[in-house]
Amino acid sequence: SKGLGGKQAQYYSKQFHQKIESRIRIEHDLKRAIERDEFVLYYQPQVDSQSFDLVGVEALIRWQHPEMGLVPPDEFIPIAEESHFINELGRWVMDEACKQFQIWLNKPGMKDLNFTISVNLSARQLKDAGLSEFLLECLERYHIPADRIELELTESSLESSLVALDMLNKMSALGVKLALDDFGTGYSSLSHLNEYPFNILKIDKSFVRFIEHEDEASLLKAISSFAHSLGFDTVAEGVETSFQRDLCARLGVKRLQGYFFSPPIPANEIEIMWQPKPAI
Ligand code: C2E
Ligand code: CA
Ligand code: CA
Ligand code: CA
Repeated sequence: SKGLGGKQAQYYSKQFHQKIESRIRIEHDLKRAIERDEFVLYYQPQVDSQSFDLVGVEALIRWQHPEMGLVPPDEFIPIAEESHFINELGRWVMDEACKQFQIWLNKPGMKDLNFTISVNLSARQLKDAGLSEFLLECLERYHIPADRIELELTESSLESSLVALDMLNKMSALGVKLALDDFGTGYSSLSHLNEYPFNILKIDKSFVRFIEHEDEASLLKAISSFAHSLGFDTVAEGVETSFQRDLCARLGVKRLQGYFFSPPIPANEIEIMWQPKPAI
């Protein structure tokens, strides 16, 4: 055969070229996006698996690029992680989430609700020496009870290092909760569970969202019972159907998150969801 000759090769090389160009563009524009105020946090609701009450939100960053539109985090977080820029971006996220939380805690209909806010941290940020002081400053500046904040770290990105462990212990000592994100997908879950001060295991969506029948649930069952037997609270992400909702509830998963309830949405839409329903 002629292999990748002629038109096809041209097609692939053009696509490749476009990829590189957009990557260079992202790298270049990313550094100015904070000062240009182009980042925004969306929030995805988490519900209690038994009462279906809204009990938390996860903050998920979006980049509103002036020409490229809404850029998803998978397209720029990995690039930010290749440089120190992730530290600046991660601090922006922490500050912004706390600022929003203070607004919610002061709203008449919302202040009595005992909900939490989850913030994603990149493992690389654990090397940002002043991070725990910065977090404390945010908590104080916005008058936020520490135990209402959850920090999520992905399992696969965590490397065993004393610096990372020390930072996690410092933040845990402030009273914030630590969640191990994408649980079940990492390589060394067991050693990390012992080593690090995690409170919550967040079961990765790949174990939840594809389940259509009971007989496809063995991994989810094993992972959740493992987590519970070690005394962890669990959150399931990727709950997309009522069957998955009911299954997770039956397995004792404490909180549920996924498109079945809501995608990530802007802060003002969260407020609408939280408005007390008028009595009928
Ligand atoms: P993640 O922390 O695992 O967040 C969950 C992702 O799953 C989100 O994608 C969310 O929109 C999506 N998702 C939620 N429910 C469902 C569902 O029912 N089905 C499916 N298929 N997907 C669902 P998103 O917002 O695109 O974020 C992707 C990743 O980017 C996040 O994964 C997280 O690792 C990273 N990320 C997002 N915001 C931040 C941030 O502020 N800082 C850092 N360091 N990373 C962030
Ligand atoms: Ca997360
Ligand atoms: Ca996750
Ligand atoms: Ca993920």
